[in-house]
Amino acid sequence: MSEVVVILHTEKRIAVLREAQNEMRGHREQMPDDAFYTRKISEAWRRARGSAAYRDIGEFSRERFRLLPVTPREDLKARPLHYAAIEPGQAAKYYETTGTTGSPTPTPRLAQDTIWNTVSVAEAWRTLLAADERVAILLPSDIVPVADLVVGVCEYLDIAHIRCYPFATGISDWDRLEAMWRTFRPTAVFAAPGVALQFTRLLAQRGRLDDISGSVEKLMFLGEVNTAPFRRRLGQWWQATAYDASYGSTETGTLAAACTEGHQHLLPTATYFELDTGSEVVPLRGAGEGRLVVTPLNAYGRPLLRLDTGDEVSVASGCPCGSATPVVTVHGRATDGLTVRGVPLSVRAVEEVVYGCTDATGYLLELDAAGNYARLLLERGFGADRAGEPQARELVQQRSEELLELRWDSVVFVNSLPANTKSGASQKSWKRSNIRRLEAA
Ligand SMILES: [Zn+2]
Repeated sequence: MSEVVVILHTEKRIAVLREAQNEMRGHREQMPDDAFYTRKISEAWRRARGSAAYRDIGEFSRERFRLLPVTPREDLKARPLHYAAIEPGQAAKYYETTGTTGSPTPTPRLAQDTIWNTVSVAEAWRTLLAADERVAILLPSDIVPVADLVVGVCEYLDIAHIRCYPFATGISDWDRLEAMWRTFRPTAVFAAPGVALQFTRLLAQRGRLDDISGSVEKLMFLGEVNTAPFRRRLGQWWQATAYDASYGSTETGTLAAACTEGHQHLLPTATYFELDTGSEVVPLRGAGEGRLVVTPLNAYGRPLLRLDTGDEVSVASGCPCGSATPVVTVHGRATDGLTVRGVPLSVRAVEEVVYGCTDATGYLLELDAAGNYARLLLERGFGADRAGEPQARELVQQRSEELLELRWDSVVFVNSLPANTKSGASQKSWKRSNIRRLEAA
């Protein structure tokens, strides 16, 4: 009897897999039409009515959807189970997001959630990952889903892979990784940017970077904001191509994935996108700027309708890779905005300065409470030439004036920065990791 149940159950899941595969392949690199969205949103709407948050939204219509108030991310964070359509114990996989902005968010997922998201990302990465790729996954597989996603993609694409998060105490560490590398010779490395930096620095100190990087062709960053100058710098050190592999969150699933041209494309078959332009929320068509509002089309455990991600984005079309789906640039959380002497700082501009004109392996901004004093600490690159530092400091000041319209009170090179600037967390907040608030004296 139980065998029959298991077989049926498995066949059901294979049917889900086929459906996801047909849908993703059917719209490959194309924007779905309006009829597709009406069907998919109505299904998401029906599932959403199973949660306390959306219980009273009534029957679906496109007009009702258009008029439905946007779901604030803060409310989802404050009452995550209010939005769940299932109890944590009914989940096929139970995750929690890391608490970068507060307490952890419970995230129960059904098999459908996992299958749809995996297929969506795998079909998007198919052009990036070769069939004979050897993938090393330096991402955590406990509590958070990030390593599970990459493993799922590799299994789906039939690519050799190993999980090797270097902070799994008692199982794995940097020495173990180095030893594994000699045998497996990975060609693609998935890591959070901070972990990649730490690994790079350690290998360089040991004089092993050239050897270890020899087999690696692709660095796939995920889990944290990472900027183009940062990727260029890491790519140089590893003599590999560095990609911003994906963008999304545990709450929303994967919203965008990298293409062969190094851009990120939204995944419009998996999510319905809208933009909050400040005055109104409009469907995303072609180019635009604003806060990204998302309706995941294949969410089951926790369906979300019109979730305001809080992320400021720019969207463009016409990528040289040939895909007709929109290219997205994520500028980060609107609330991450920091000012120094009234000048707003962005991660992107700061990293353009740090990684664009120095060989620093990390940085920390020290700001006073009032935002009047700002010091930039730079971690010395490997084999750094100290005689050249006064010149490097001046270059940083010049570039900061050009790009940030700001001169630092001081720019200081240090031998090493606190570990949390490159922590192993899979999702970290820039404010926590790279900014230190100085106490008033
Ligand atoms: Zn592209």
